[in-house]
Amino acid sequence: MSTTGKVIRCKAAIVWKPGGSFSIEEVEVAPPKAKEVRIKMVATALCGTEMKMLKDKNLQHQHYPIIMGHEGAGIVESVGEGVSTVKAGDKVIALFLPQCGECTSCLNSADNFCIKLKQAETHLMSDGTSRFTCKGKPVYHFGNTSTFSEYTVMDESSVAKIDAAAPLEKVFLVSCGFSTGYGGAINTAKVTPGSTCAVFGLGGVGLSVIMGCKAAGATRIIAVDINKDKFEKAKEVGATECINPQDYEKPIQEVLFDLTGDGVDFSFEVIGNPETVAAALASCRESHGVCVIIGLIIGVQLNISGHLFFSGRSLKGSVYGGWKGRDGASKLVSDYMAKKINLDALITHSLNLDKINEAVELMKTGKWQVTHTIFMSEYLGPREMCPLCPVTLSMMLTN
Ligand code: NAD
Ligand code: ZN
Repeated sequence: MSTTGKVIRCKAAIVWKPGGSFSIEEVEVAPPKAKEVRIKMVATALCGTEMKMLKDKNLQHQHYPIIMGHEGAGIVESVGEGVSTVKAGDKVIALFLPQCGECTSCLNSADNFCIKLKQAETHLMSDGTSRFTCKGKPVYHFGNTSTFSEYTVMDESSVAKIDAAAPLEKVFLVSCGFSTGYGGAINTAKVTPGSTCAVFGLGGVGLSVIMGCKAAGATRIIAVDINKDKFEKAKEVGATECINPQDYEKPIQEVLFDLTGDGVDFSFEVIGNPETVAAALASCRESHGVCVIIGLIIGVQLNISGHLFFSGRSLKGSVYGGWKGRDGASKLVSDYMAKKINLDALITHSLNLDKINEAVELMKTGKWQVTHTIFMSEYLGPREMCPLCPVTLSMMLTN
């Protein structure tokens, strides 16, 4: 029976108050209004950004209850009036970074910061209302996406149509983690062949930066993390050396100068810590080093000596790896299908949505190598997975 035009009742992970944990609830998802799309989510993941939202006071707002989740892929269930770029049945990527195609950023080929991203700050759809209710209360949206719900509603500008043959439980990573890191290296830093790079922070995003540096032809990629359990995976995706700042008496920037002679050509902060931003910038070559901040830093001032810039270093920000939302996601999925990129290394654990709080605990303790962990895949069915057991999804699909 068609669900088009009807309210859908389904499961979602709701956070009811600042600092709260996820609670699995039945929610009502209203049909999409004009220029909106309702999507059945197939795969979603917990990113470092949600972790920060749960614990970092600077990121906690008053928009509760809320359905978080900004990394995911699914299938269009129905579309609202005037939607022209997707139709029911299309496979799509959910995008926290929209691409309206009309604003000054969208019309500028060198810019990706679509004006519609500001809509996410209201935690509501563009008409100022929510499409979710739970226990009679409206529930706020998150990041233009709210992927921690079996069904969600998004603005058409946040939905990228992808190849119908793409495996959603793999390519969902172009929704945030992979694209952000990979593009941070190739689009924002513009890593050059033969260069030396340092990547601070080896979560799913940092590992994707390493992949981007390697693809751009960097010959030396130094991975930096305080959790040495991350090193094996970093080497697997392309790091040539791995160092733990806690193994040294000296500040890490001095260690990097000792290792390289005159600093790295490109450095990346993929943690979201003002102190590591300062260290990453100071690790760059004085004359032309480029430091890219990918980690989320909100409500904190950076304490950086102006002297570091005198000789020509630069410090840049990067959102969604510099890709335009919809164009970038579709292109990267095509690249995956053409075997130009490989996302397999980034998926180490698979859990059902009901286990989302276990994933949060595991992420907090850094017990697994890659934090971008998949939930909710319909391919997983009712099978329960040991969260500590590194069984990959592809193995599960074949048995
Ligand atoms: P993550 O939590 O999985 O990874 C962070 C890594 O940093 C961990 O391996 C941790 O051990 C390491 N770390 C923590 N403190 C450290 C220190 N002092 N020195 C060295 N290593 C340290 O996070 P993630 O999902 O990979 O995301 C990374 C960052 O990117 C987050 O801040 C997230 O909010 C941000 N992000 C930004 C964008 C964007 O568009 N700019 C998009 C997605 C995520
Ligand atoms: Zn725009």
